[in-house]
Amino acid sequence: MTAFPVTARNRVRRLPARSAYDKAAIYPIIDEALICHVGFVDEGQPFVIPTIHGRQEDTLFLHGAKASRLLKVVQSGQPVCITFTLLDGLVMARSVFHSSMNYRSAVVFGVGRVLEDPAQKLHALAVITEHVARGRWQEARQPTEQELNATAIAALTIESASAKVRSGPPVDDEEDYALPIWGGVLPLRQQVMEPAADGRVKEGVAVPASLRHYHR
Ligand SMILES: Cc1cc2nc3c(=O)[nH]c(=O)nc-3n(C[C@H](O)[C@H](O)[C@H](O)COP(=O)(O)OP(=O)(O)OC[C@H]3O[C@@H](n4cnc5c(N)ncnc54)[C@H](O)[C@@H]3O)c2cc1C
Repeated sequence: MTAFPVTARNRVRRLPARSAYDKAAIYPIIDEALICHVGFVDEGQPFVIPTIHGRQEDTLFLHGAKASRLLKVVQSGQPVCITFTLLDGLVMARSVFHSSMNYRSAVVFGVGRVLEDPAQKLHALAVITEHVARGRWQEARQPTEQELNATAIAALTIESASAKVRSGPPVDDEEDYALPIWGGVLPLRQQVMEPAADGRVKEGVAVPASLRHYHR
């Protein structure tokens, strides 16, 4: 399956021209986003919790403390909705009404499961670590048995998903172009700064490869 079937759940109703359902459009958004927001209902109360993720094929991995409600709920197998948002610019229309943002976003649906097997947990942690900084899994000390025990991992098979993308300049009402008001886009991007050592790095230890040319 290269694209998710369009159903009542994932069909983009508002501005469907901006929608996409193929994995080739959706997965790069998931992979570029450093974090996601997980939406779930617990005892009737909706929560939307930001967290780190990693993806391998159609599976998302989330990790956290054993006591984390987020992890417990996702592991329990109740339906969750996860969103990923990349902000590309501020769309400054001449009117407030047509002002917007340029973005690439993905909405994913699925049910989670618990990962108990230590080898599978290690693999999931490697996927998450590599998602954050490629190469870091090999550079950093691997988890001890105790650390692994203290970490809860949820795996979620992506059942359904959609992407929505806005790009380009504002689209003003024709008569508004006559107004003496600036219109256009302020492009935005996440900026990588110089790595800042914590002051306790051993002499001779250089900035690792995973950070030297970091980009997403
Ligand atoms: C950075 C950013 C800023 C935005 N600002 C606004 C705003 O100020 N006001 C506003 O109304 N909308 C805004 N949107 C768009 C917003 O995300 C929704 O698409 C829109 O509000 C329609 O919501 P709905 O529930 O009617 O969607 P529907 O089209 O009814 O949703 C149906 C299905 O479409 C899919 N879908 C909907 N939205 C998205 C999405 N963004 N990405 C991927 N799949 C999606 C989901 O699968 C959803 O279940 C913004 C989006 C982004 C990423």
